[in-house]
Order: sequence, then structure tokens, then C-alpha cells
Amino acid sequence: MSDFLIIGGGVIGMMTALQLADAGQQVTLVERGECGKEASWAGGGIVSPLYPWRYDAAISQLSRWSEGVYPSLALRLLEETGIDPEYRQKGLLYLNVDDAGKALEWARQLGKPLERVAADFVHAKEPGVAMAGDSALWMPTLGSVRNPRLAKALKARLAAMPQVTLREQCDVSGFIHEAGKREGSVEGVMTSQGALKAGRIVVCGGAWAAQLLAQLDVHLPVRPVKGQMIAYQATKGLLQRVVLKDGRYIIPRADGLLLVGSTLEEAGFDKTTDEAALASLKQSAEAILPALKRCPVANQWAGLRPGSPEGIPFIGALHEWPNVFVNAGHYRNGLVLAPASTHLLVDQLLGREPLIAPAPYQPNPERLTQA
Ligand SMILES: Cc1cc2nc3c(=O)[nH]c(=O)nc-3n(C[C@H](O)[C@H](O)[C@H](O)COP(=O)(O)OP(=O)(O)OC[C@H]3O[C@@H](n4cnc5c(N)ncnc54)[C@H](O)[C@@H]3O)c2cc1C
Repeated sequence: MSDFLIIGGGVIGMMTALQLADAGQQVTLVERGECGKEASWAGGGIVSPLYPWRYDAAISQLSRWSEGVYPSLALRLLEETGIDPEYRQKGLLYLNVDDAGKALEWARQLGKPLERVAADFVHAKEPGVAMAGDSALWMPTLGSVRNPRLAKALKARLAAMPQVTLREQCDVSGFIHEAGKREGSVEGVMTSQGALKAGRIVVCGGAWAAQLLAQLDVHLPVRPVKGQMIAYQATKGLLQRVVLKDGRYIIPRADGLLLVGSTLEEAGFDKTTDEAALASLKQSAEAILPALKRCPVANQWAGLRPGSPEGIPFIGALHEWPNVFVNAGHYRNGLVLAPASTHLLVDQLLGREPLIAPAPYQPNPERLTQA
């Protein structure tokens, strides 16, 4: 029996497991498919909310902390596993921002580098980009990570740690607790590989977290929000930095792939891709970088974001089931929020002084009934 049983092997579940194992705890991580192949694989990997000044302070607090941690986390994983999560800090160009004044004031208050730049600056940084209007915003410190490799590195690290048991292809179908009870202690979970017991259970099921918790009669307002993306096979160096215009972005990878995202669709748990999304993403991308008209689209895919009210994740113990914890609902920002959000949860699991005040994220009855 492990001290901790984590359900879900996305970035949230894997970073939780890593921090618990770092602290010397015995951890079992249960994933119904392969670790890191759902939203954590499908995402774009921008290490910031897209327009950070438009977000609630609860999200900014987590993202600021995480952004500071990513460089050392990526380096640690590279050194320990040989897998490079490709964290790159090359900045972001915002085109066509209609609330630039608000953005600049937000940056001034936080001491965050963000400046208004003219067309010749944009042209010097990214000669292929078609300017929209005569100025843009430039955030030089923005980073991005190659999330499928981040997930691969996390899994490799966990697999090498003796205090971690990884169980893939292991579907959790229910919780073990005294029959008829609607609150109290949970002893473990039922899975496709049999019953697993643990002192504390941590639900990191992403878009599926609500389905899991419904079995404890807890109604978590987390729903799947489908996002489709495409990737162009371009020549290396065609674009160096992330560029964002009207909510659509292009993210360069080190090998020349250019990722374009993303759609926002309420389609339940459907992950199919379609021609309409392909055409719309191509149109957005080629308006930003016209040379893409001559590049082939190498791939199209979809993932399910764990959508939550205001995009604020639920982090902490359940009121009715105090040894069951949740960390889910990171919506569009789970990759950037993961280091801070998992740190905050692990603080609570181990009774440490929390990184930041946990109140805005608690899955208490008031927040659960708000939606
Ligand atoms: C198109 C798109 C673009 C995005 N871009 C960005 C971005 O640029 N930056 C950013 O920060 N975020 C981005 N995101 C959001 C980010 O990817 C998610 O918020 C994050 O990956 C959520 O991580 P997670 O671990 O909670 O969920 P997931 O990665 O979905 O992991 C949940 C895991 O739980 C497992 N599971 C579920 N039910 C069970 C069960 N019953 N038994 C066992 N296992 C179970 C699933 O199989 C899954 O592996 C994007 C998302 C999408 C879809």
C-alpha cells in the first residue's frame, strides 16, 4: 500500500508524483492509457496564459511562480533523463491587441517586461510576419516547452524512482469506501488491475475528473473543451518566436515544425478533427506568416482541456471525503500552471506552509455549487 495514490498521468498527476517522491513518499500513479497522451500531449506548450492581463489574480499568481521554475525544471529533467523538454525563452509578439493600454499597465504593476514596438522592430525580429496595424506588443521573457517531450521526460524520471509505482493501462472505475456512506474516509480505488489501497487519493483526471468524482457524489464543475491544432512542416528558422494574433498563435519548435492553435469547442468527449477547423487554422496562420502557404500541414489533432469556471483549477481536499484530494480544471493553462499548482497541492498533502494562499482554489461546497 502506497502513502499516496494519484489518478491520472498528465502533467498534473506526474508533477505531483515527482514532488511527493522527491519528498521521500511512496507513490502509486494510475493512468488508464499511457502517461502524458491526453491534454498534456495535445497542448501548445506556451508557458504563459495567452493574454495574461485578462486573467483572474488566482491564475496570475500560479503562472508567475511556474514561469520562474520552468527553466530549472527543464534542465533537471534533461540531466536526469537525457530527454530535452525543449524549454526555450525566445519571447512573444502580440499583433492587433485592442487592450494594449491595459496590458502595459498590468506589466508595469508587476514589473514584467512588455513594450509597445513599431513595425520595423517586428520586421527585424521576424521578417516573415505580416504586420497588422502599425504597432505590436513584445514580451521578451515568454518561454515555451515541447510538452510531449516534457511528459516523456517526466514519465522516464518517475519510472526510475524506486519510491514510485507507475501503472499504465489501469482504468479507475470507482472508490472503495463503506457502503451507503456519502462522506468519510476512502480506502482506495477499484481498477482494471484490481483494488488498490492508499492513505490518500489524489484525483488528477483532467477533463475526466468530474466523471471520477461523481462516483463519490461530488459534482466538480469541470468539463471537456475540445481544442484542435495543426502543425506545418516548415524550414528551420522561418519563425523563431511565438506570434499571437486575434487569439490564434504560431509556436516554433526547434526542428522547424510550426504549431498553430487552437479551436475552442464544446463537443463533449469527442476528439475527432475536421476540415472546417483545418481551414480556419490555416487561414489564421497564413495571415500571420504568409510563407506558410507554401508549406505542407504535417499533422492535425485535438485534445480535451479540463474547462472550469474562470479557468481556476480546483486544488485541495474534498470537504466530504477528507483523504481525497483533487487537482484539476486548469483549462487553457495546465502546462504553465502545473509546477505551481502541484507544489500547492503537495504542500497541503504534506502539511507544509503553502506556497501561496490556497483559498481561491479549494474545492469547498461553495465553489462546487457556484457553477
Ligand atoms: C489544443 C490545446 C492547446 C493547449 N495549449 C496550452 C498552452 O499553450 N499552454 C498551457 O499552459 N496549456 C495549454 N493547454 C492546456 C493543457 O494542455 C491542460 O490544461 C493540461 O494538459 C491539463 O493537464 P492534466 O494533467 O490535468 O490533464 P491530462 O493531460 O488530460 O491528464 C489527465 C489524465 O487522466 C487520465 N484519466 C482520466 N480518467 C481516468 C481514469 N478513470 N483512470 C485512470 N486514468 C484516468 C487520462 O487518461 C489522462 O492521461 C492546451 C490544451 C489543448 C487541448
